[in-house]
Formats: sequence, C-alpha cells, structure tokens
Amino acid sequence: MHVSSAPRSGQLSVRGRLGYRQSNSLHAPRAFLSKLFSSSDEEDPKPIEMDQTALNPVAMPGKKQRDYTEVAYMTGRAKVVNKYFPTAIGIDDFLNRLEIALYAYGFNGDNSIAMVNLCRDEITVSLKNKIDHVFGSSFNTNGLGGVLTCGVTGVAAGLSHAPVSKGSGKERYVFFSFPHISVDARGEVGTISRPGRPGSSCACGALNKALIDIKVQGVDANCKIPGVHEPLDPEFTILKQRLARRLRYDGLDDGHVSNMNLVDLTKVAERTISDDLNYLISQTVDPQKADYAVVTGVQIHNWGTTFDDESPNLEFIAPAQAYVVVNGFKTQIDLNTMPSLTPRQIRILADTGNMDASQAGSKDDLVCNSTGSSTLREIDPPYLYRSKRENRRKREQAETYSELIQSEGLSPEIACPWPSWQTSLRKQSPQTEQEKGNSAIHFDSKFRTGEELDAMWSKLQSEYVSAGSNKSKSSDPSSPEDS
Ligand SMILES: [Zn+2]
Repeated sequence: MHVSSAPRSGQLSVRGRLGYRQSNSLHAPRAFLSKLFSSSDEEDPKPIEMDQTALNPVAMPGKKQRDYTEVAYMTGRAKVVNKYFPTAIGIDDFLNRLEIALYAYGFNGDNSIAMVNLCRDEITVSLKNKIDHVFGSSFNTNGLGGVLTCGVTGVAAGLSHAPVSKGSGKERYVFFSFPHISVDARGEVGTISRPGRPGSSCACGALNKALIDIKVQGVDANCKIPGVHEPLDPEFTILKQRLARRLRYDGLDDGHVSNMNLVDLTKVAERTISDDLNYLISQTVDPQKADYAVVTGVQIHNWGTTFDDESPNLEFIAPAQAYVVVNGFKTQIDLNTMPSLTPRQIRILADTGNMDASQAGSKDDLVCNSTGSSTLREIDPPYLYRSKRENRRKREQAETYSELIQSEGLSPEIACPWPSWQTSLRKQSPQTEQEKGNSAIHFDSKFRTGEELDAMWSKLQSEYVSAGSNKSKSSDPSSPEDS
C-alpha cells in the first residue's frame, strides 16, 4: 500500500498558538491539550476559528480553497449531528479511540470476545463490521430497536465462547450496545434513503413506531405485566413495554410524551437498554473470573438525502457509558478527552478493514477529514450492498448503452423463458401451506380464550398498570422481575 506522509488534499496544516505544527486538525481537543499543557501561565487553547473565506469560492486561490472547503463541509455535517447529539464523533474515530483505551486495560482482539447488541436493521452492520475488525467475530444479541430479549441464557452463551488467557485463565468480554437513528445530511431526523429503494424510510423504524404507539395508547397502557408479549410480535411488544416502564420510572407522563420526538425517545431507549444490559451482566458475569468492558451509546446514520447522491454517507457514534471492570475494579473511560486519530491514520486503518476492497470505491475517493473535535470518514460498505459509487457508474453505463442501441440502430430482443428445471419447483402455490393452517400460530392462539385466564390477566394488569404509577417511583426499572 502506498502511504504518503505529506498532507493530502483537504487536510489542514496550521501553526497553532503553542508554536508546534498541528497537522490535520482545526484544533486539538481542548480537554486533552489542557492536560498536556497545564502550566498556570498557559490559558486554555482556543479552537482556531474557521476562516469564512473558505466558503467563498472566489475569495481564495484554488488549492487553498479546496483544502478549506472540504474541512468546512465535514465540519458543517458534524454540526448537523451535534445539534441533536453534542458528544457524537465519527464512527472510525470512536472505535480507534476505544481500541486504544481498552488496550491500556488489557483488552484486545486476541483475548476478548465482543458482545454486540444493535437493532436488527441492516444499516447497523457498518458498526458491527468495524467492531469485528477490532475484536474478531462478535456474538450478537440484537433485537428490534436494540431491545434485549436474549436473556441470561443468550448472554451466557456468548460469554462461554470467549477466549481464555493461557497464563491467568481469565476471560475478557467487551459489551457494545447501541440503538440507532438517522439524521440525514440536511438534518432531517429519522429519514433515510436506502440503496435500491425509492423514497425514504425510517431509522429506527421500531423506535419510531413505539413512539407513535405510546403517544396514541398512553404510557400506562403500554406498561404490561412484565415479560408479557404478543406471541406474533414478541420483540416489538417487549420493546414498547420496556420503554413505557422506563418513561414512567423517569416520571414522564402522557403530557411529556406527547412532546417527545424520535431523538428524545432514542436517548430513552439507550438508557433503558443499557440498564437492561448492565442487569444481565450482573446476573451472568463473574468479575473474579473475567474482566469486562461496557460501551454504550447511539449510532447515528448521517447519510445523503438520496443514497446515490453526491453527499458522503457518514456515520457517527454518540458515546454514553464506557467503563472497564478489571480485577473487580470499575474504571470509567472518557473518550472525549482522547485526541482523534489523524485523517491519514483513519484512512489506513479503515482501508485494512474493508472486507472486500475490490468492490470499494477508490480509497482516495472516500472523503476523510477533520471536523475539529473528531475525524470523519465516509462509509461505503461493500459488504452490505453495492457501493453508491458503483451504483452511479452502472447508471452512467446504462445510459451509454441506451444511446448506443439507438445510434448503432440495434434491435435487441430480450427473452427470459423459465428454465425447464424450474417447472418442477413451481407446481405448488406458496399459499398452500398457510391454508392448511400453521400449528405454531394456532397453538398460541388457543390461550387467548378462557374465563380463568381472562380473570388472571385483568388482575395482573390492574396491579401493574393502574397501581404501577404509584409503585414505579421506588422500583428499579431493571429489577429482576421487570422482564
Ligand atoms: Zn432500527
């Protein structure tokens, strides 16, 4: 791999107030610098202000303008996300800082298993893949909206797959838990344009639906008997009731909830799921036998308003909890006090993590630059779907062929008969099985009737729904009986 040490186009190289060369950064993180240079006669380093002429194409000569404009653009994109999630940083930057911090406490890809809890949405794979790149194949406990439904058996299964250190016999686990949300390039919350799908869809769709349902049905109505769920919709109904119980625990009633938006509920979801995770850890992990780390937050998809448009698709992480428990002692990690890696370092690490580099766009095509507080790199995940650049290239090619067909006077005939081997596979209509009746659905439905069951149900509901509002203030939202 050719790696140039010279600043690439688009990186800033400015001489800071402290007299050293700050390359690739508008300003280094203040908290970090203030620790490095803490003598009393030094005032806090000030961020170097963005030169507004960067935004004016005629005010600057060519190269300088290009350098500033890219940083200005990336900084603007970060600002859109930081409006809703002030601590959010680029996903690569986040994982690189985390890897360094965890390594300092003895965790690495060879001796640890990553336990990853995300929403089932395919777009969360960008985060999973980057975690796998650092820690090897992860054990997933995913659920709709990130809700944890795998229970102690699910978590314990993952832990039992952890590597065991030869000398100490110790196991190491790194727990990740991230609900997700989209804040697109123009700052639209919840909407995302997916590859190959016209219009926009929602992220997180499950959390958005939960918010709508809880607003319509009310908080108390969604606080079902703990653990109870719809047989045909187990994960979503458990998600809703976990959120509703958390809202009630936080003292938020229907009036508060009617003013909540998706950003608010995503933050509630993060707190709920993180607490659930911590409770499951307390029930499954033996700190004498294992060291572990817990890292939670929100994954934010900051994509272009149309998947194939010119806007780079960026991913952010807003960290929430980050701590390690080593030899039974808990230590907090503050990733925001660590400096970001430079764009050059992030490029190198990201390129080595590409599952299929042959499908990725040219490395230099993907923008990677500083936003001041973080370094951001465009994602173009070839392992998920065709890249946006490849999409564009194919479209241009199709237009070319279409013109050629006309200009060369071709008269193509496209015939797609079913191959003969398929006729044997197509004899039965896919409906047939369903018409016969599916035993699993009927089996559960039988329990919907019965006077004894109805009486028991309303008794339990009245206990947990009507009386719940009074009890909830003193109860822990992640108490054992609570799902
Ligand atoms: Zn989702």
